[in-house]
Amino acid sequence: MITAHLPSGYVVARGLPPDLPYALPVALVAAVFPDLDLLFFYLVDGRGFHHHHYWVHLPAFWLALGAVAVPLAARAGYGRQALLFLAVVFLHLALDTVAGGVAWLWPLDDRLVTLATVPARYGHWVLNFLFHWTFLFELLIWGWAGFLLIRRRA
Ligand SMILES: [Zn+2]
Repeated sequence: MITAHLPSGYVVARGLPPDLPYALPVALVAAVFPDLDLLFFYLVDGRGFHHHHYWVHLPAFWLALGAVAVPLAARAGYGRQALLFLAVVFLHLALDTVAGGVAWLWPLDDRLVTLATVPARYGHWVLNFLFHWTFLFELLIWGWAGFLLIRRRA
């Protein structure tokens, strides 16, 4: 997934009960948080390997972190926000599975699991994703988020 993570967080937040404090900022940050590894990917590792192998794209990491962080956050009164953050991170990973691949079985198997493989037909990798059928999925999420935003303002 290239462009639709942020709107996916918006869709989730707008589907939650309005009495959950900080739902929108938590969902928006969580929706893009795993892709912060792109900074490391470009600035430190020199694009040495697929950024979906970094720890922020590993479901096992988030399960382990969640097992510790969610109870601690609940004790501080933010358990629902911590669960929301974790759920939206897993949504990010699920969306990345459509065409990018996620190592769902790590540490047992570090291969990236993907729904569809995007062939390299064009000179730039972004064009390969833009002209692949999986990009329709991104447009659907954008449309859904736009619909919710327009409906909310009306
Ligand atoms: Zn990602």
